[in-house]
Amino acid sequence: MNISNETIDSLNQKLKDGSVTAQELANETFSTIAKKDEKLNAFITVNKDVEVATDLDLSNPLAGVPIAVKDNIVTDGVKTTAGSHILDNFMPVYDATVVSKLKENQMTIVGKTNMDEFAMGASNETSYFGEVHNPWNLTKVPGGSSGGSAAAVSSGEVIAALGSDTGGSIRQPSSFTGIFGIKPTFGRVSRWGLIAFGSSLDQIGVMSKRVRDSAQVLTAIAGYDDKDATTSKREVPDYTQFLNQDITGLRVAVPEEYMGAGVKPEIKEVIQNTIDLLEQNGAVINHVSLPHTKYVVPTYYLIGSSEASSNLQRFDGIRYGFRATDVNNLEDVYVKSRSEGFGDEVKRRIMLGTFALSAGYYDAYFKKASQIRTLIVEDFKEIFKDNDVIVGPTSPTTAFGIGEEISDPLTMYANDILTISANLAGVPAASVPAGMADEMPVGFQIMANHFDEGSIFKVASFIESQNKFYEKTPTGMED
Ligand code: GLN
Repeated sequence: MNISNETIDSLNQKLKDGSVTAQELANETFSTIAKKDEKLNAFITVNKDVEVATDLDLSNPLAGVPIAVKDNIVTDGVKTTAGSHILDNFMPVYDATVVSKLKENQMTIVGKTNMDEFAMGASNETSYFGEVHNPWNLTKVPGGSSGGSAAAVSSGEVIAALGSDTGGSIRQPSSFTGIFGIKPTFGRVSRWGLIAFGSSLDQIGVMSKRVRDSAQVLTAIAGYDDKDATTSKREVPDYTQFLNQDITGLRVAVPEEYMGAGVKPEIKEVIQNTIDLLEQNGAVINHVSLPHTKYVVPTYYLIGSSEASSNLQRFDGIRYGFRATDVNNLEDVYVKSRSEGFGDEVKRRIMLGTFALSAGYYDAYFKKASQIRTLIVEDFKEIFKDNDVIVGPTSPTTAFGIGEEISDPLTMYANDILTISANLAGVPAASVPAGMADEMPVGFQIMANHFDEGSIFKVASFIESQNKFYEKTPTGMED
């Protein structure tokens, strides 16, 4: 069986008519991973001992379907590393809420996907477990930080994977690998059991080749959780009801800053064609401005790093994971465990965040960034008064070469400019494949108002139905 041609519904059909069992699906997935991951390195842990649910309730299409989970989401009894040396022997004793929900839906968690260390990065090159390769061209990055999830889905190792998105880590790798990925509204999905990076920005979301598959999985993992006080009590709709709808009259905002000079011309062309397609099919296009876009990169890197420096204090060599051995006293344990356990990018963020929060600099950096964040939120509020969605490119570039940008953090950070705002504003955002440029996939970003994931699914499924990008197979895997 070639998983790339399957969907959750088609697998459900096969399970129903008895042509395959859930255990066979799991075995099939493990042998595909064994073959493809030699080239991709998308998985840190393959969960070969997974207990496949028996007595499947096949009225639930998710039952018996294999899924992968990013390795910063804790899994009871399955190693969870967050891509870091400091957690490379960490065995959680509980499941994240999203993992419990996947299990309640009888999904088979086949493994834990590679990622930038502590989700800090945009290329997957900061992982302690090595870089991940893009299935479209193995010399290129898959994006990050959910690069393992993206490569696993795009290459057909799994139908769907969970990722996390603090500043674009679901959308940018989805864009780079030609798949769909959605970051829900802040508070829509429980973060309990997600290893924290920036607590006011982090959200778990779904990545899959087909839009409908993500709608089904998101419906299953969303909702209130009394273990995460930031989750909303709002009812979770069945997101599949928004698929395949007429888009006549849909109000689509195109911010001038998202089609500006920093975006490569060949990407702009693909995006413009997609906007034209929406217009030809009855959508109303409004040209707007998100005037504070020029401040989002420094604002995000100050807030994200400040929160990270605080969240990562718990990794002290005592409570979890790696502990340095050549030590003389307690302080030595802290200093050496953290010095040896964290990689360069994580240390850079901890230092930046600690500086921005320190007495004397707090007002100038953290407080100022928080004030600008409010202005960014206002920009979005203003636009959503008269628009249903905001669209543009997901990333100013297509996937770049492995090794090309890793030594230049500022360039890497600057490329996050189009994805970061949605996290700062807490609004839902997705990337759907729009076409190709430079022989690599281009993602089309769709953002909507808080809790209006439905409009995103509506637009994404429309675009998918027109361009049928899922029919293309990544070409980089051929020998
Ligand atoms: N590239 C961004 C960063 O490095 C986003 C990461 C993320 O969303 N986890 O912080």
